Amino acid sequence: MSLKLTNTLTKRLETFKSIKPGEVSIYCCGVTVYDLCHLGHARSYIVWDVLRRYLISQGSKVTFIQNFTDIDDKILAKAEKENSTMTQVSEKNIKEFHQDMDALGILRPSRMPRATRCLDGIREMIQELEQKGAAYSVEGDVYFAVMQHVDYGKLSNRDLSEQQLNADGRIEREEEARKQHPFDFALWKRAKKGETSFPSPWGQGRPGWHIECSAMVLQELGQTIDIHLGGSDLIFPHHENEIAQSEMATGKKLANYWLHNGMVNVGGQKMSKSLGNFTTIRALLSEGISAMTLRLFILQAHYRKPLDFTKKSIEAASIGWRRLNSALCIGLISHRKLKWPKPSVQEKTIRDLKNNVSNERFSKSCQHFIDALDDDLNTSVAISVLFELSRPLKSLANQIERDVSDLDGEARNLDLHSRWLLLVSLANILGLQPELPLEKNSHQGKMHSDAEIIEAIKERKAAKLSKDFTKADKIRKELKDKGIELIDKKDGLTDWIKK
Ligand SMILES: [Zn+2]
Repeated sequence: MSLKLTNTLTKRLETFKSIKPGEVSIYCCGVTVYDLCHLGHARSYIVWDVLRRYLISQGSKVTFIQNFTDIDDKILAKAEKENSTMTQVSEKNIKEFHQDMDALGILRPSRMPRATRCLDGIREMIQELEQKGAAYSVEGDVYFAVMQHVDYGKLSNRDLSEQQLNADGRIEREEEARKQHPFDFALWKRAKKGETSFPSPWGQGRPGWHIECSAMVLQELGQTIDIHLGGSDLIFPHHENEIAQSEMATGKKLANYWLHNGMVNVGGQKMSKSLGNFTTIRALLSEGISAMTLRLFILQAHYRKPLDFTKKSIEAASIGWRRLNSALCIGLISHRKLKWPKPSVQEKTIRDLKNNVSNERFSKSCQHFIDALDDDLNTSVAISVLFELSRPLKSLANQIERDVSDLDGEARNLDLHSRWLLLVSLANILGLQPELPLEKNSHQGKMHSDAEIIEAIKERKAAKLSKDFTKADKIRKELKDKGIELIDKKDGLTDWIKK
């Protein structure tokens, strides 16, 4: 295996080597469950899904852990606003998270620990840090003492003499006075009056954000893991602090490889919930943009670079996907007409795949694809291999569409068949699955699938555009009766949730 990855820790492109041969342990920072996920989340989880799929395709056994942050100020604020509890808000948004990630074809993590279920591990780690003199408590708050960790700043290249500013660029004066060093951060926060809290040796309170990931890595994967993943906005302070806590507590290196994905930008600014410039995955899918169009859009850029989200770039991805999809679908829709054997699922490593292809040209395409992904997951080059492979299949799809009875000869068909099998297998490593055309169903009766809900939302939008508000209201009501609530947003898009 000669997979090379850019390691944020060393700032170098390095050949990946796992601790245990044939096994890879991965930890990926998850979401804070207080709202629907946006395109920035989609990007992160899609690129790491490709990394995971690629490692699996090389025959590795991958353990992929991703957390849910279910203790947080934003969740508490939402609970207060909705007159519900922190648990209710979290449960609801965890359900929504799974729905979006499943729709995008992202493999579910091996395990998904939650902060509320990991409190023993968190308290134990804080106590360990206290015993080692790397943590101190001030009136029920516990802080990590960064001066005790000699390597503090090694991931993000921070210097402890720099000023610590909060997100608005201001220094938090009140908290500042309690800390020994401006970079010190909370491991445990004492409870404010009336707030949801948990018992601890330091009194009622709740864990700080960073400590949960350190405790979960240790609990789920052990002291040192192969790969730690996250968005580049997490390098500082989150990942820097994770390293400090874990390495002080265990005396071992936390992760051998740190990989970070670039942000999704809107008009040059990072897409984020706090900036209010986000577009949810749900709303994009409701617009009729297919899940695989989003995947293609995201994977056409290199994962480390920023990705500009514009209407035009999504449209271009949509045209590209339609072309690729018609080639991917051909063997599923027309296998009878083509006299191709019905496709069966085959579990193969990419090496087997390359060795089993019928001719040298295909073997070269396969190698080209492997070389691209080995080169720091260059998905855009890998996609170009898919487009090259799909070209003759696309013209075959056109022939079938025009119902040309005299299809090319049997031999060529078989050649096309191996080409198609290779295309489907390689596309699957990027998680690009054929999207079969939706059969038109009426909206009467039970809504069977998300695709049907999206169709209904599109129909309602068209009705609104043509000022047929009676019809639009009727569709909204029909959906409501089936337990689906629509949320119209300022940007003209529509979110939906199942009640
Ligand atoms: Zn984390």
